[in-house]
Amino acid sequence: MGSGAIGSPLVIQLLDEPDIEEIRVIDPDRVELSNLPRQPWFTPSDIGKFKAQVVRNYEPGRINGVVGAITADNAQDLLRDVDLVFDGSDNWAAREAIQQWAFVSLRPWIFSSALRLEGMSAFLAPQFTCLFCLFGNLQQGPRCFEAGVMGTVTLAVAGQAMMLFHQYRDHQNDSHGWPQGLFLIDGHDARVRRIGMSSVRCGHGVG
Ligand SMILES: [Zn+2]
Repeated sequence: MGSGAIGSPLVIQLLDEPDIEEIRVIDPDRVELSNLPRQPWFTPSDIGKFKAQVVRNYEPGRINGVVGAITADNAQDLLRDVDLVFDGSDNWAAREAIQQWAFVSLRPWIFSSALRLEGMSAFLAPQFTCLFCLFGNLQQGPRCFEAGVMGTVTLAVAGQAMMLFHQYRDHQNDSHGWPQGLFLIDGHDARVRRIGMSSVRCGHGVG
């Protein structure tokens, strides 16, 4: 996962999960002054430092901070022994790389996105639904650092992603209980909606 406005609150929540041995944080960015209002877990003394390294110091024994971006070339190596990926990348190419890892490893990941007053999250398992089932080959739209995003929306997305994780973990051996659908968080009227995807059976990872 990354360590920005969605990734960092996820890391903090995952530290509370005793079953998780290692949290691998992968992020190429440094802390900037403009991050501080939305990412209050960083302080002015962190400015200029790599986020992955700052976050690692929350609990160095369990958090493994990797400075770098996930790409199609390195995803299989960086994520080789990972059980589940949380996406906080704000980057379509990174999401495609995570999806390819999911196809190869047959492991799930949780997509997250936030832009302006709207957020999205989805639990994606290669046997059922993938990034391309949800969005086709969308490529990159405007990114949050270009279009802006409300801090409360990123926190809501991180909370939603954590709920998807808990639902999956509580039904890990029974895929009927896995969360499905795309969750939309609408900050205009503080609503969460779910678009069901029950009829989708992904064929994108074949061949
Ligand atoms: Zn698919």
